Amino acid sequence: MTVNEEMYRLGSQRSAIRELFEYGKGRAAEIGAENVYDFSLGNPTVPAPECVNETIRELTETTDSVSLHGYTSAQGDEAVRQAIADYINRRDGMSVAADDLYMTMGAAAALSLCFRALTVSREDEFIAVAPFFPEYRVFVEAAGAKSVVVPADTGSFQIDFEELKKRIGPHTRGVIINSPNNPSGAVYTEETVRRLASLLREKSAEYQTRIFIIADEPYREIVYDGVSVPSVPKYYDNTLVCYSYSKSLSLPGERIGYVLVPQSVTENRAVYAAIAGAGRALGYVCAPSLFQRVLVRCMGQTGDVEQYKRNRDLLYAGLTKIGYECFLPQGAFYMFVKALEPDADAFCEQARKEELLIVPGTGFGCPGYVRISYCVDADMISRSFPAFERLYKKYCAEEHS
Ligand code: PLP
Repeated sequence: MTVNEEMYRLGSQRSAIRELFEYGKGRAAEIGAENVYDFSLGNPTVPAPECVNETIRELTETTDSVSLHGYTSAQGDEAVRQAIADYINRRDGMSVAADDLYMTMGAAAALSLCFRALTVSREDEFIAVAPFFPEYRVFVEAAGAKSVVVPADTGSFQIDFEELKKRIGPHTRGVIINSPNNPSGAVYTEETVRRLASLLREKSAEYQTRIFIIADEPYREIVYDGVSVPSVPKYYDNTLVCYSYSKSLSLPGERIGYVLVPQSVTENRAVYAAIAGAGRALGYVCAPSLFQRVLVRCMGQTGDVEQYKRNRDLLYAGLTKIGYECFLPQGAFYMFVKALEPDADAFCEQARKEELLIVPGTGFGCPGYVRISYCVDADMISRSFPAFERLYKKYCAEEHS
């Protein structure tokens, strides 16, 4: 083979989610989009808040285009980082400085930079708590480290601490957490974050190592029923926060986010420099310039989260009425539902026969469950219920035959 085998493998196999999405597009062309119920992707459907387009118009009309579209410094424009730091400090009562922030192309890049910056040996391990975003594995392994999985606590979708404890060892470099969670919709409670912090302090002392928390928070603002998302660095010093505006501002294609390296991180400057070095090594150069500047004027704004809440309520009520066992999401825009047979892949195949495109939990490290993405048209949710009901009845009929 004349190309890198691992890169070839990654590039020629689509993720299960993308595969399903592509299938859905083909199917819609065959039988009409109105007859396909595509719950596969996490692409926000509420428009970006008005301030985004207003700011783009204003910036393109009033700023000279050479500076507007020029390179920024690698870590991002200083005024932008200062505005984000001020916002985090107001929101969480922290003392973040502009120089603690490194602008990235979304959370995916932020995570990749953290894994690259922290990996020092081939034996290093990053632990992901299931259910988890499947790309973590790709990013961790591409950084030269190993990924370790903690099975899900399917009762509450918090953390199974007994299982986590068993997996922490001398090679553990970090624990990746994602709250609000894709795919379960769970939000970690303050108690969960406290317990995690205390366990990692204990284990860092036991092994004489520094174990990081990598807090992946692209859904931080998408929460319901007044639930609050604890600010992890306030509980644990060695926390790196990966944030993205993909979901909160509905800008997934514009690729904008950041890594926060709080001052509480031991050797904060060295960690920050290694993140910058990883950005350089990967050829990231700088985060998109126009969208860095858009952020300054849209700080704290979000798309219409209520629309996602209405979808959540509609879907939850409809599916539980049919008889499905669903976890009520407190945040993000996914519902995690128990498959009607132990093999979630086979269940999703059956769902596909009813034109329902849902994603097996297997890739999220949680077999036996399926993810239904509800950042879709409310009308499609309502129209899909008869198909969900047929699927349910098929399984009931099989059980009784
Ligand atoms: N982390 C999680 C949990 C996600 O769900 C996603 C995207 O869906 C990402 C990271 C990557 O987000 P971004 O578009 O900001 O790279």
